[in-house]
Amino acid sequence: MPEPSNTIELTPPDIEPYRAGNTGMEYVTTFDSGSAGPHVLVTALTHGNEICGAIALDRLFRGGLRPKQGKLTLAFDNVAAYRSFDRRAPTASRFVDEDFNRLWAPATLDGSRQSTELARARALRPFVDAADFLLDIHSMQYATAPLMLAGMLERSVMLARRVGIPELIVCDAGHAAGPRMRDYGGFGDPGSSKTALLIEAGQHWERRAAEVATDVLLRFLVILGALSRDDAQAIAGSEFDHHPRQRVIQVTEAVTITGENFEFVQDFRGLEVLPQKGTLIGREDGREVRTPYDDCVLIMPSRRLVKGQTAVRLGRYTA
Ligand SMILES: [Zn+2]
Repeated sequence: MPEPSNTIELTPPDIEPYRAGNTGMEYVTTFDSGSAGPHVLVTALTHGNEICGAIALDRLFRGGLRPKQGKLTLAFDNVAAYRSFDRRAPTASRFVDEDFNRLWAPATLDGSRQSTELARARALRPFVDAADFLLDIHSMQYATAPLMLAGMLERSVMLARRVGIPELIVCDAGHAAGPRMRDYGGFGDPGSSKTALLIEAGQHWERRAAEVATDVLLRFLVILGALSRDDAQAIAGSEFDHHPRQRVIQVTEAVTITGENFEFVQDFRGLEVLPQKGTLIGREDGREVRTPYDDCVLIMPSRRLVKGQTAVRLGRYTA
């Protein structure tokens, strides 16, 4: 599979200083303010090649920021994959055995199957269970506008609006290949108050992704009362005081690859709006894949066109 040609502008930070942590679990640190308030969990490196999240957490640690109320847990998820990061093949470190972010079904976590990522997910599960709020920091294959993936619950969209950046909020149900951490347990339960967001901060290697990741993280912590604006301002970047008119894209379906050969008919990058219903977007084993309605938005077309995985998601602007 060809590697993206983008220049690697980001340097993976040394996370060894965070290995010991203080929770008994490697690369997981909890700061307890000692006063009442929500338990906020921020996770980076769910995909080992998505280094902007590690940069954002590193900045938070180095800034010495501590929660004013409640608890704040900072976790580096797929460290095994991150350790294999190689600038010559930067995409290869996404995971070791399988995608960490498709394992978050109780049956999978409780099951007997073993993998590097399942072991790590099982180890981190109690921290996800304990959190009231989750921000999971990711980046994307193509350099499009950042996307806040809010899932299917209205309270997550409300939280994304309170965070205020980025401009685009995507409401989506995830992937046929398996549930994401952001949809696990109470985070995907309409009857719970646990609320999760996933930020796709930009292209994996672009400098701006680290700025977006940092500013989204800081604003997330400020609106949840964990940080003051003044504290956040000390390490905030150019996006922090940006006030875009936020727009929502409702994902209606994921195009899941069921055949042996899937190919797009164009070099789609994501966020293209195809005006005409029935526009051809790809072919799978000779079968045509067409847009189901007018003004169909393509969300994160994948370069990993593998059976069982998502090729692209389709949606439309609702606001
Ligand atoms: Zn990711």
